[in-house]
Amino acid sequence: MKKSYKFPKQIPIGGHTYTVELMDSCHTTDVHPSVADTFADLEEIRIATVTPGGTPRNITVLEESLLHETIHAISEVWSLELQEAQVEGLAQGMLQVLRSLGVKLIEPA
Ligand SMILES: [Zn+2]
Repeated sequence: MKKSYKFPKQIPIGGHTYTVELMDSCHTTDVHPSVADTFADLEEIRIATVTPGGTPRNITVLEESLLHETIHAISEVWSLELQEAQVEGLAQGMLQVLRSLGVKLIEPA
């Protein structure tokens, strides 16, 4: 059964407003099935709620994905040229801080 979530539908990044989409499937890039992506041209962040095998992803994993893609978008908008490892580290750090403060980016609806 499809789960539904409460999550921020839009995130302001610089002068832009990114739309957030939670999808119940992965989309496929040229290389591999992707569970999350940022599309700067479309000002859009897409997060899959399931793994490529169809298993539901845990809430904290979804939150980490949203933070990860948001940091990619920040890096893009401000030309920070962050490397993947930096994005991953910042996303994990932000997730820990937000969780410690009781802030939940994504919750079951
Ligand atoms: Zn990434």
